[in-house]
Amino acid sequence: MNAPSAQMVGNKFVTPNWHSDFPILKQKVRGRRLVYLDNGATTQKPLCVIENQNAYYSEHNANIHRGVHWLSQYATDLYDASRDCVQKFINAKSSDEIVFTSGTTQSINLVAYSWGLNNLKKGDEILLTGMEHHSNIVPWQLIAKKTGALIKVVPVTDDGQLDLDEYKKLLSDRTAIVAMVHVSNAIGTVNPIEKMIPMARAVGATVLIDGAQAVAHMNVDVQHLDCDFYVFSGHKLYGPTGVGVLYGKHNILDSMPPWLGGGDMIHTVSFEESTYAPVPQRFEAGTPNIAGVTGLKAAINYVNTIGLDVIQAYEEELLTYANNELLSIPGLKIIAEAAPRAGIISFVMDGIHPHDLGTILDTDGVAIRAGHHCAMPLMTRFGIPGTARASLALYNTQDDVIALVNSLRKAQDLFGVTGSK
Ligand code: PLP
Repeated sequence: MNAPSAQMVGNKFVTPNWHSDFPILKQKVRGRRLVYLDNGATTQKPLCVIENQNAYYSEHNANIHRGVHWLSQYATDLYDASRDCVQKFINAKSSDEIVFTSGTTQSINLVAYSWGLNNLKKGDEILLTGMEHHSNIVPWQLIAKKTGALIKVVPVTDDGQLDLDEYKKLLSDRTAIVAMVHVSNAIGTVNPIEKMIPMARAVGATVLIDGAQAVAHMNVDVQHLDCDFYVFSGHKLYGPTGVGVLYGKHNILDSMPPWLGGGDMIHTVSFEESTYAPVPQRFEAGTPNIAGVTGLKAAINYVNTIGLDVIQAYEEELLTYANNELLSIPGLKIIAEAAPRAGIISFVMDGIHPHDLGTILDTDGVAIRAGHHCAMPLMTRFGIPGTARASLALYNTQDDVIALVNSLRKAQDLFGVTGSK
């Protein structure tokens, strides 16, 4: 590998030493250097996010939108500033289009229950893809049962990509919504949503994009994409857990009834009838995760300071390196090897179950994920119970990949597997 230690990006010379920004990476696990390759599950937090959380509770904590006192107004300003920050981050037209949720799962459920229950009818089709996370399948199944809508699925090809010919055939005037993942959490495929969204629009379908695995790895511009909804979680973007985003075009959000009722989402309340706040407050009932929301801004600022174009270039180089190194191991097969991928390598090894791999790697301080990755239908598609998954973040290095490869070879020795290459 020439380097991910230093590279030219545009006219900028970048030497990534970003791992030093992440205190948790300095610790040892089982006496070994922590090699954290489970970023698809959640990313570690840079010091600036940790300090932000500390400062919030040490200096700024109060409930928002309700108090006349100084601290409440200050906390409200912090909360609102995060909304503006997210708006700019994904280039939404207005900050009213940003709803804070607890994460991707809640964002999708909000759309399913508020938009879905009120717009879907018997015979309408909900078009998903064969590589969705369970959180973009189950809510739609629940809503399909209630409305009589039907779920259709875009198949996945042998090389782990969406079958665009089939997608085209499945789209029709019955397609009410296309809900699809931007980057697969299970195999890393980057779906060509720039191409697929206009195709959905052409049949008049609403479009939801699950960006949980995308926003930490590439620039996302929702106006350019022209999707109706885009959802993601803060904790996969170096931010705190328990905070997420639902982006929705203003006109569609405005047409949607509340999903959860309670404080902060109303205009007036009487026992006879209540009227509701405008968006986005209409969808933020109760006390939100104020600390988490402010921490999300700190995380986005951190990412912006480096630049997603720089992060993407670095991670692509590291992914290519990791890909080649892993392929040098006999008996190791990468799923979706040929597909355009971001951040994720999913693989199986002859003679060793992914869970055993995960356990052996852990003894070397190498943290990967093993299993179905909440994408059981995709595992069924490939006829496997699960995979071992190494998922990258900006702080991973060439040394991390070497540690992974050495540990995998050790697992082969332990199992007496020599591989078939
Ligand atoms: N969608 C994708 C593609 C994911 O990878 C995940 C989490 O792994 C989710 C949805 C659910 O995210 P959360 O658990 O943060 O709600």
